Amino acid sequence: MTKIQCSVIRDLLPLYYDGVCSDETKKLVEEHIASCNECKTELESLNVAIEIPMLEIQNRNQDQKVIRSMAYSLKKLRKKALYKGVGITAMVGLFIFCGYYALFLWNIQSVDSENFKISDIFQLNNGHIVYSVDFLDEYDVLRVKYSLVEDGNFYMIPLRPIVKQKTEHPIGDVQEEFILQAQQENWNNQEIHALYYGSPDDAVLIWEKGMELPKASAEMERKWDMSRFK
Ligand SMILES: [Zn+2]
Repeated sequence: MTKIQCSVIRDLLPLYYDGVCSDETKKLVEEHIASCNECKTELESLNVAIEIPMLEIQNRNQDQKVIRSMAYSLKKLRKKALYKGVGITAMVGLFIFCGYYALFLWNIQSVDSENFKISDIFQLNNGHIVYSVDFLDEYDVLRVKYSLVEDGNFYMIPLRPIVKQKTEHPIGDVQEEFILQAQQENWNNQEIHALYYGSPDDAVLIWEKGMELPKASAEMERKWDMSRFK
């Protein structure tokens, strides 16, 4: 196969995949891929790129509304693609990818306080605050965003994608450590007056200035001491 032929075929593949090319083009593409493995692989990768996100979407029945509206825009875009060909087809691919990213991977939804439990709040000898977090609804929490607002309230905000996923390995209580001094340094030495878990309008207080926390047990001191030397 010559180089020119392959590059022409590559341009035609999206049209061929969408079934919007003439019979003649179709024949040309089919004849070519019958004898050219590289272009055949290219066509297969087109298949995979478009089918995987759709499959994922079908597999997850949560938040149907968002998916439906996305599917609708997608349909409209694909319809346009019938008329405009390659450029739009590439756009559809991008749109699917972005939509997939926005729905499944982008952690922007904060977890309601009723869906998590903060317990066992203690203070270590070195002043660090230790607490346990348990997510009660068993969906994955993929990111915790830190935010220090002007009044000195520090928020640890657990975040999820819009389409949340059932966690495969529920981990139960997770013990975490908060180092006040280090966080204040991270935030230009702004003083932290209170520590919260959750978004500002729906947060659980862990500690505030003047609050006397229970001392950590000797066992807990040892555990956190060891974790620092790992
Ligand atoms: Zn080829």
